[in-house]
Amino acid sequence: MDSSETVFSISGIRIAAGETREIYLKVSESFLSGAIQVPVTVIRGRKPGPIGFVLAAIHGDEINGADIVRRLIFDVDHEKLSGTLIAIPVVNIPGFLIQSRYLPYHRDLNRFFPGKRNGNNAERFAYRLFSEIIQKCDFGIDLHTAASGRLNLPHVRGDMSHPRVRNLARAFGATVLVDQRGVKGSLRREATDIGVPTILFEAGETQRFSRKTSLIGLNGVLSVFSEMGMWPEYEEARPPFQVIVKASDWVRAEKGGILDLVVKPGDLIYQGDWIGSILNPFGKTVTQIRAPTTGIVIGVTTAPLTIPGTGIVHVARLKKTLSLVERSLKRRKKKSKPRKRPTSDVLR
Ligand SMILES: [Zn+2]
Repeated sequence: MDSSETVFSISGIRIAAGETREIYLKVSESFLSGAIQVPVTVIRGRKPGPIGFVLAAIHGDEINGADIVRRLIFDVDHEKLSGTLIAIPVVNIPGFLIQSRYLPYHRDLNRFFPGKRNGNNAERFAYRLFSEIIQKCDFGIDLHTAASGRLNLPHVRGDMSHPRVRNLARAFGATVLVDQRGVKGSLRREATDIGVPTILFEAGETQRFSRKTSLIGLNGVLSVFSEMGMWPEYEEARPPFQVIVKASDWVRAEKGGILDLVVKPGDLIYQGDWIGSILNPFGKTVTQIRAPTTGIVIGVTTAPLTIPGTGIVHVARLKKTLSLVERSLKRRKKKSKPRKRPTSDVLR
């Protein structure tokens, strides 16, 4: 799409080529009768190019993306931009205000796209965003963090069988691309289904800003823009390796207790490796946790307390691409020595 030739408007507000506008998009109303409005910055380059959205905090407590969007608005030279950037630092305003993932009535906004004009509160919210913004775009990037109590390796999710989604995902420059279409009602799936290929960036944790995560995200977004012809050549985001993973597993606690975890996001682990222990209040080991599969750690719990079923480590399975990752991480091809942990104090 050639944005210089189109009349671009949001909520009836027209934005000309070369213009930047801050708009409040009304999506709902509060219990105090006030408008719930999503802040939207529209930056139109002087030169023609695609229209892309970059948005954050669809889950109201996943705020690191807001810092990525802020940098995109204030830290880059928009004279270099071709086309139109629609930047939304916080989508889920009600959740953001109370530091929650959810909309009122505990609804997850990212399960209700494309929404309904006369539906429930989440469907109406989703409908406004989808019809006023998403449908007008050529592609999109949805910024998330791990859910509460978890920390994620920076990685990209999307439907890798979709060539345009795969192209965006590769361009972002993350090491791990998780091949997941997304659940029904998720923004990335529904947007892609109407011809707006959309990827999701996952990094960091809720309620936290991380400068490192923000810079990885900003570089990734600009790298995607470069791929889309919206930004000059950009090499910052070349990763040391890049793998598409189709399957991932949560390692779950089998016992209640206090977790001593020895792996972190980005670690390569081999089936059978000791990755942590669960201790009782006296400090004795209740059970040792072994990696059930070989792969790269893409998420961990940040909470030290477990009961049977608690998700501890999220592992992306590596098979054909294992040697590539091993070479890149300068690991020996042979199975590495498992981490040592005395076994004498295991309770029987
Ligand atoms: Zn999320």
